[in-house]
Amino acid sequence: MDRKKAEKRIEAEAPAGGREILSRLREAGFCAYFVGGCVRDALLGLSPADWDIASSARPEEVRALFPGARILPTGLRHGTLTLLSDRPYEITTFRTEGRYGDGRRPDRVAFTRSLEEDLSRRDFTVNALAWSPERGIVDLFSGLADLEGRVLRCVGDPEKRLSEDALRILRGLRFYSVYRLAPEAATAAAMRALRGRLSVLSAERKEREFCLALSGRYAGEAFSAFPDLLTALFPALEGALPGLSLLDRLSPEPEERTAYLFFFAGEETLTSSLRETRFPRRFCERALLLRRAAQAAPPRDRLAMRRFLAGISPDRAEAAFRIRFAALGDAETLRARELLARLRSENALPPRREELAVSGETLISHGLAREGPEVGRALSLLYRAVVDGEAENSEKALLSYYKRRGEP
Ligand code: ATP
Ligand code: MG
Repeated sequence: MDRKKAEKRIEAEAPAGGREILSRLREAGFCAYFVGGCVRDALLGLSPADWDIASSARPEEVRALFPGARILPTGLRHGTLTLLSDRPYEITTFRTEGRYGDGRRPDRVAFTRSLEEDLSRRDFTVNALAWSPERGIVDLFSGLADLEGRVLRCVGDPEKRLSEDALRILRGLRFYSVYRLAPEAATAAAMRALRGRLSVLSAERKEREFCLALSGRYAGEAFSAFPDLLTALFPALEGALPGLSLLDRLSPEPEERTAYLFFFAGEETLTSSLRETRFPRRFCERALLLRRAAQAAPPRDRLAMRRFLAGISPDRAEAAFRIRFAALGDAETLRARELLARLRSENALPPRREELAVSGETLISHGLAREGPEVGRALSLLYRAVVDGEAENSEKALLSYYKRRGEP
């Protein structure tokens, strides 16, 4: 990217509250920069979610400079506190990371007064950019050129950096999938070679990165380039992967994409794989439901479709058809998608069961059903009649339908 243009872009984006923090730190003789993801995102033309600040000041020194401010001790041991201004700002003391004993966390962190040292510990060149109003963009590792060329490159030796912290392998996949930053050859080779290390990561870190990667706009391209990362995470997918380049045809929702990944592998495989990786139960349940709906033969006519929709919301049905069509590419599923769209546009979707226009109490008060299981049976019968188009969904129509039923 043209450096001047880059400077302008970030100058325009940087929020006022954060800039005040930078200048107060500077006036007190410290260095302070916006750093990492916010600089990367602003340069990519996206709105950064958080504007992280890195500074030579120690946490106590930061605190002393902002006596009236609300400050949260986010990760004091690692030198991070959060200062609440026009939005929350994480301020982290420049640090170097010590040896990584376990491939997960540095054994210790050491504070430093040097921005250069702090930037060198960061994972990828595009994440090792810093910016301050005085110095402009600080780009020690050609992160700007890599952003421009859409290249993902480790800071330093990829094998070394990815083995220090295996999460970086998944972060790499995520940056490819979300921003289309394609790992350059040495980084890509190290991501593949070290995939076995993913097993040392905690379930939470793995799940978060995996979901972010999976929901990326370029997930199709990224996962097709790294299918072995997927099978390293879920060995049971070996030999049962669907076409990964079609991932972007699904909605970004990670549960929907997961249901697709396990389309050919089977329901038990999905359950056991997600459980082993300790995904949250809600995630598993939703992925499982979607997969199950996608396995069902798609309804062929209006009546069958309305009956199908009695058991599943239209949105979920749509997701199921998307999954099935991506997996099988069959004309039948395509027709079902069109049929559903048509029912939707004609306002001809069946009501949800809770929307049935009579309640159990009404049936009882009209002497049409006795309390107990009879009420449930009566409501089911009426709901079915509405779904099948035999009765209109109004109290009057349903009561008269119920009275008439059984009559020849
Ligand atoms: P996002 O905030 O969009 O999820 P990010 O790159 O900002 O992405 P954060 O977790 O907020 O990710 O980290 C902020 C910065 O810290 C990164 O940009 C990077 O410079 C550095 N960083 C984060 N995680 C690691 C890691 N595992 N190894 C090395 N550096 C890291
Ligand atoms: Mg961030």
